[in-house]
Amino acid sequence: MLRRVLHKLQKKKVERTYPNRFLAFYYRNKKRLNKERRSLYTKKKNERICVRCSRNVVSGKVFCSYHQKKQKGYNIKARKKV
Ligand SMILES: [Zn+2]
Repeated sequence: MLRRVLHKLQKKKVERTYPNRFLAFYYRNKKRLNKERRSLYTKKKNERICVRCSRNVVSGKVFCSYHQKKQKGYNIKARKKV
């Protein structure tokens, strides 16, 4: 009986609270979501489809022409911050 109560208390401690249900869902399914994202990335990369949309890639890259242009902008911004 006592053991059961203790076990329940421990379980409650482990359960964390999250700011919203979307983050809670993310943290609870993190492993699966990351696995899915990675496999989709690899699949798209191998099939020569842009990893951010469904257009064809610019040769030798993982992005289409639009997203490659976008990515260049992101990279410039990121380098400036440091
Ligand atoms: Zn794209």
